[in-house]
Amino acid sequence: MAHNTDNNNTLFERAKQIIPGGVNSPVRAFKAVGGTPRFIQRAQGAHFWDANDQRYIDYIGSWGPMILGHGHPAVVQAVQAAVREGFSFGAPTEREIELAQEILRLLPSMDMVRLVSSGTEAAMSAIRLARGATGRSKLIKFEGCYHGHADALLVKAGSGLATFGNATSAGVPPEVVQHTLVLEYNNIAQLEEAFTLHGTGIACLMIEPIAGNMNFVRASLPFMKRCRELCTQYGALLVFDEVMTGFRVALGSAQSVYARHLPGFEPDMTVMGKVIGGGMPLAAFGAKRAVMELLAPLGAVYQAGTLSGNPVATACGLATLREISKPGFFEDLSAKTRSLVAGLKAAAAAEGVPFSADSEGGMFGFFLFDSLPQNYATVMTTDSKRFNTLFHGLLDRGIYIAPALYEAGFVSAAHTSDDIAATVAAAREVFKLL
Ligand SMILES: *Cc1c(COP(=O)(O)O)cnc(C)c1O
Repeated sequence: MAHNTDNNNTLFERAKQIIPGGVNSPVRAFKAVGGTPRFIQRAQGAHFWDANDQRYIDYIGSWGPMILGHGHPAVVQAVQAAVREGFSFGAPTEREIELAQEILRLLPSMDMVRLVSSGTEAAMSAIRLARGATGRSKLIKFEGCYHGHADALLVKAGSGLATFGNATSAGVPPEVVQHTLVLEYNNIAQLEEAFTLHGTGIACLMIEPIAGNMNFVRASLPFMKRCRELCTQYGALLVFDEVMTGFRVALGSAQSVYARHLPGFEPDMTVMGKVIGGGMPLAAFGAKRAVMELLAPLGAVYQAGTLSGNPVATACGLATLREISKPGFFEDLSAKTRSLVAGLKAAAAAEGVPFSADSEGGMFGFFLFDSLPQNYATVMTTDSKRFNTLFHGLLDRGIYIAPALYEAGFVSAAHTSDDIAATVAAAREVFKLL
């Protein structure tokens, strides 16, 4: 039986009067799946409670940041101590150095890092820096990858490789996206053709190494290898957008997963967010020293932020990174996530539902068809009606997954084997309805 959503409805009605769509970020609105968004009152560990005091097992974790679960004592303590010392100074603090050191220790592909406040800001700044460093304008992105909502990145593929992208949002002038080339993920032939045509004008290739904004799609090893080779050959920067995968799929992030298979593999620049803020607004981008020293105040590439390196956010991020650096953390998290994925697969098989799923570290994705998709077009062939039945079936049973079929899921260290078992049992009930 569906839960009573009265208080959620009341809040949604109030919100819609004064906040566009009732939400401050579109996917929260349940537009894709229908129904009333749950307004969250509080959270603890792997659970949150909505305005009707209904409890949910949380598989979005604030879309990734809450890798320790909600209200981890060490993080809460660090944030409380920081708040007492002051919210923001507009002058540098030691904690910014400590967080930068911690990030650089975990990601040896970078020598220097700049802290900002959102993934969008980090990706936007990384592109400006790549353009400044190369003196070139063009950039490559892939269909289905999300890099925040900077103008130049809100683009879909044009009609052919010789033409550049079309804006996916109103308010983005065509001139602003004329330098953005949108290619199909995992398509090596197209990538090679694009470099042959435009290579000497390309400032950077930006990619989600494991794409979490088209559910969960890995860049294949041969594809990633080719991205690296072509960027090196043509002098373009390979920019890893690890806002989602960073410190989430492995302690060394997705770049360490690729380096396991491609010895010596490194991106030229990395964009981070989500987990490094531990749930507070914090993001970053980093690269080798020669590139990073082109940033203001040293160099000619301008970049700034009133709240950048915020003392409370850095305390939260630092405490989070210290917890996930503890021995065995990722082994446990990965095992937990794999057990969820295995349980869901078994439940789907038992009910005869076509299903495929994958995970890395604490990030997972599943599809209502037999094999794992390689690109956005295939992801979007998912039957959205079936997905919506699954989403609402789980929601009614107290399981909260992303309210859109093109989003990844997240397991935290706070999820217990009971949480996983309850999720698999609920999923099996819902699979019967499909
Ligand atoms: C979430 C996300 C962003 C945008 O970060 P915001 O903090 O929401 O601006 C960029 N890139 C990727 C891969 C993301 O998952």
